[in-house]
Amino acid sequence: MHFIIIGGDAAGMSAAMQIVRNSTGHSITVLEKGGNYSYGQCGLPYVIGGKIESTNKVIARTQKEFQEKYGIDARVFHEVKSIDATQKVVTGVNHSTGETFDLAYDRLLIATGASPVVPNWEGKTLQGIFTLKTIPDTEEILDYLYKGYRDIKDVTIIGGGYIGIEMAENFVELGKNVTIIDRNEQLAGIFDRELADLVHDEAMKQNIKLRLGETVEGFIGESFVEYVKTDKGEIKTDLVLIAVGVKPNTEFSKEAGIVTGVKGAIQVNSCMQTNVKDIFAAGDCATQFHRIKERDDYIPLGTHANKQGQIAGLNMVNLHKTFKGVVGTSVMKFFDLTLGRTGLSEKEAEGLNIPVASVAIQARDIAGYYPDAKKMTVKLVYHKETHKLLGGQIIGERGVDKRIDVLSTSLFHSMTIEELVDLDLAYAPPYNGVWDPIQQAARRVK
Ligand SMILES: Cc1cc2nc3c(=O)[nH]c(=O)nc-3n(C[C@H](O)[C@H](O)[C@H](O)COP(=O)(O)OP(=O)(O)OC[C@H]3O[C@@H](n4cnc5c(N)ncnc54)[C@H](O)[C@@H]3O)c2cc1C
Repeated sequence: MHFIIIGGDAAGMSAAMQIVRNSTGHSITVLEKGGNYSYGQCGLPYVIGGKIESTNKVIARTQKEFQEKYGIDARVFHEVKSIDATQKVVTGVNHSTGETFDLAYDRLLIATGASPVVPNWEGKTLQGIFTLKTIPDTEEILDYLYKGYRDIKDVTIIGGGYIGIEMAENFVELGKNVTIIDRNEQLAGIFDRELADLVHDEAMKQNIKLRLGETVEGFIGESFVEYVKTDKGEIKTDLVLIAVGVKPNTEFSKEAGIVTGVKGAIQVNSCMQTNVKDIFAAGDCATQFHRIKERDDYIPLGTHANKQGQIAGLNMVNLHKTFKGVVGTSVMKFFDLTLGRTGLSEKEAEGLNIPVASVAIQARDIAGYYPDAKKMTVKLVYHKETHKLLGGQIIGERGVDKRIDVLSTSLFHSMTIEELVDLDLAYAPPYNGVWDPIQQAARRVK
């Protein structure tokens, strides 16, 4: 059997490795439109900030390794333009030679990821305006910072989601004056307002200017960007990063008769199959089943891309395995704070007309009497009538990640607030209080 995989990063290569490890006598061709394989996009903000010394460090496996060690026909600069699902052929362009190619498949995986959204703002092609998604994007930003085109002092970030927030920290670390513009009234929109206010406080402590509830209209400059124009004025700037979200790369799917769903992502079942026979999809270009919402959703994250890719690969070689869905867990760093969340926020639950209640407390990450205990804010969101846990948000300096993972595990197993209190969690003074902060919060619920 001949497998073709479109896209050579997290989802695509997770699938390829499962095919290699779990079958014999098959051949795999990977068509990647860029020049890199298997790299951690999640590390790119820290390459720009200088914590990670170069983009080479985030590459897990190279094209050569896939070719020589695993026998995969891994190609670069091969962009797929269309799929003929009847003839089972993909067509595209080899950008190294300018030639077109047609390749036949028995089974196909679409793992094309997502692309940053850039609204049709006037002046968006001026130099000094960037998005961050790939290694070339990172290199371009580094060149602009260090190759002396301009003296970069003022950086404007449009969008206060996780990429915007992580990049704000990294630009501050580089000594830049940072402004974040968001059309919403808060940063970190996946958190409820009272938790997001902790992020606002930290941003202000770090001298980041926040322009919330402000809408970008365009950019002003000769050849380089000089001002961001908003509905409230003009902001002087030397560099702009647009981080207002991503959209799935599914342009050629419709033509091939592949059904798309939430936010235009390819609709997949739990085996990562699309509606078209022998075509699978996984990662940022596909939907994910949300266990709490009990419906498909679109939450493009590396964790899901790796899992979905692995499951696609197994099913492509007839080894049945299903994707069990997501609960909406994520964690990010913002200076000394860790921001963790899982499940539904209160406003999300309200939007879904779920009878919702919540409890929020402040607690210490370790025994209060032990040196260097840190404060954290914990919010639990639960069903008003059944007390079933719906979500959790934690922000603090230390120990946030482990509590969020306990909450995410509890959500995965549909636990109630009362069952959280019963959990046998680890305790010794340097690691926790006798009642873990999430249990302290759960105990407040009557
Ligand atoms: C700055 C940043 C920080 C992030 N931080 C985190 C984090 O902390 N935690 C987390 O879980 N996730 C994070 N993510 C998200 C995570 O990186 C993505 O979810 C993950 O990379 C998705 O993997 P994928 O394989 O589905 O798609 P991608 O990694 O986007 O790979 C898709 C590949 O397909 C190729 N391709 C697209 N179209 C075609 C075509 N027509 N023909 C051939 N090839 C094509 C692309 O060139 C690309 O290489 C971050 C992302 C970014 C950008």
